[in-house]
Amino acid sequence: MLLKYMRLDQKGSAMAEYIWIDAVGHVRSKSKTITQLPENGEFKPEDLPVWNFDGSSTDQAPGDNSDVYLRPVAVFPDPMRGVPNILVLSECWNADGTPNKFNHRYECAKLMEAHAEHTPWFGLEQEYTLFDMEDRPYGWPKNGFPAPQGPYYCGVGAGRVMCRDIVDAHYKACLYSGVKISGTNAEVMPAQWEFQVGPCEGIEMGDHLWIARFLLHRVAEEFGAKISVQPKPIPGDWNGAGLHSNFSTKEMRVEGGMKHIEAAIKKLEGRHQEHIAVYGEGNELRLTGRHETGSIDQFSYGVANRGASIRIPRECAAKGYGYFEDRRPASNADPYQITGIIMETVFGPVKE
Ligand code: ADP
Ligand code: MN
Ligand code: MN
Ligand code: MN
Ligand code: MN
Repeated sequence: MLLKYMRLDQKGSAMAEYIWIDAVGHVRSKSKTITQLPENGEFKPEDLPVWNFDGSSTDQAPGDNSDVYLRPVAVFPDPMRGVPNILVLSECWNADGTPNKFNHRYECAKLMEAHAEHTPWFGLEQEYTLFDMEDRPYGWPKNGFPAPQGPYYCGVGAGRVMCRDIVDAHYKACLYSGVKISGTNAEVMPAQWEFQVGPCEGIEMGDHLWIARFLLHRVAEEFGAKISVQPKPIPGDWNGAGLHSNFSTKEMRVEGGMKHIEAAIKKLEGRHQEHIAVYGEGNELRLTGRHETGSIDQFSYGVANRGASIRIPRECAAKGYGYFEDRRPASNADPYQITGIIMETVFGPVKE
């Protein structure tokens, strides 16, 4: 049905889907017609108009001063609508020219710029759970629970994995859009999956992860499934969902890098609580020290240790250089806040 309309000629105009992050860390979006197309077909953020939305409807502004401005910061091809249509990731700005309270990209970009000489790379592992329209994990029995965890992680076959169609549609959509998705896998809890984005340099990490999240919600919408990024969607003996954050600098990636990795981990230890504060809501339900997590109250690290706050991959320890994994962030954390605070802790705040 839809296809016959999607094939219609747009008479030289493009549809631009402006995307932003709301007060609860969900994505919102609305569409704008662009009548002036760039000659080479490649839109740049600075060529696109600043737009606005009603911030009182999203808890991002008071009703008596409700306009919030959308400033385009990154453009991606739109996999739902195809050429020449685009996705326009935007920052939220207040009418008085200050960044909106929920615009975490602004501070993050400053930190990335201040320390760009270290060429920071990030790779984020986004875990999430698919829910049906009755808010049950997709494919779980109406009464009771599936068999205990064990067969589901990287599972293959009916009864072991759910919704592979959504996962693959999302994977394709990311590749089409140029999102640096690096893989997917079924997770330990049934109806839970993961995708990885990275390595990405600097601010690109947050931009690509947010577009990947948008695409996931958007694809799942078509299949009638909900995406949950709750850190502990089902209480009890079911794994929670995280956003493991892998990090390296150019100093860590070459011979002798391990001393830079260890120095960074020492700095992270000194600011454990500050990190936890921005590593997601409800993370205390997940970081229990069980189910492949470290305790929320205690910083720890180790080689190949999935029960620690920070894991140095076995291969990196053996080589003596590479990257490390911060396992603390919850699946609902904001990648700008995560990557921003890692930069601040390792290299210091931005000097004004
Ligand atoms: P895990 O074994 O923890 O499940 P994954 O394979 O799911 O690991 O994810 C590893 C992530 O680490 C990927 O997103 C990848 O892009 C990222 N990564 C790999 N090398 C580096 C690096 N040098 N610096 C930062 N991130 C990296
Ligand atoms: Mn209106
Ligand atoms: Mn992983
Ligand atoms: Mn995982
Ligand atoms: Mn991991």
